[in-house]
Amino acid sequence: MPTKTDRRWISWQRMKPEEAATLRKAAFTAIRKLFAEVVPLWPNCRRGACRRHRRCAGDIRPCLARSWPLLSAEAKEAAHVEVMRGGPRRLPAQSIVERNLRGYPPSNFVH
Ligand SMILES: [Zn+2]
Repeated sequence: MPTKTDRRWISWQRMKPEEAATLRKAAFTAIRKLFAEVVPLWPNCRRGACRRHRRCAGDIRPCLARSWPLLSAEAKEAAHVEVMRGGPRRLPAQSIVERNLRGYPPSNFVH
């Protein structure tokens, strides 16, 4: 009897296309969140709410898109390494899709 946990790690190839698309979307959102955790986005953020709360939250896509290009190559590389480790909270990837995507260059997630 397969448990819920096993199901999360179901083979990528055996997934239905719509199932894969859902996991991919969730993975992208999760990875963007991780980038926002490992990169101090808020000091450069134009959204008052982000600066007030000292963190970018909600729809962080525009925050990332603005702040990422301002980082040095070293900072970008360091952020990527942190994301692969799951950020400061060392969050495990929620799916095989996310685990794979974490290894992709950050440029996939920051626009
Ligand atoms: Zn922001």
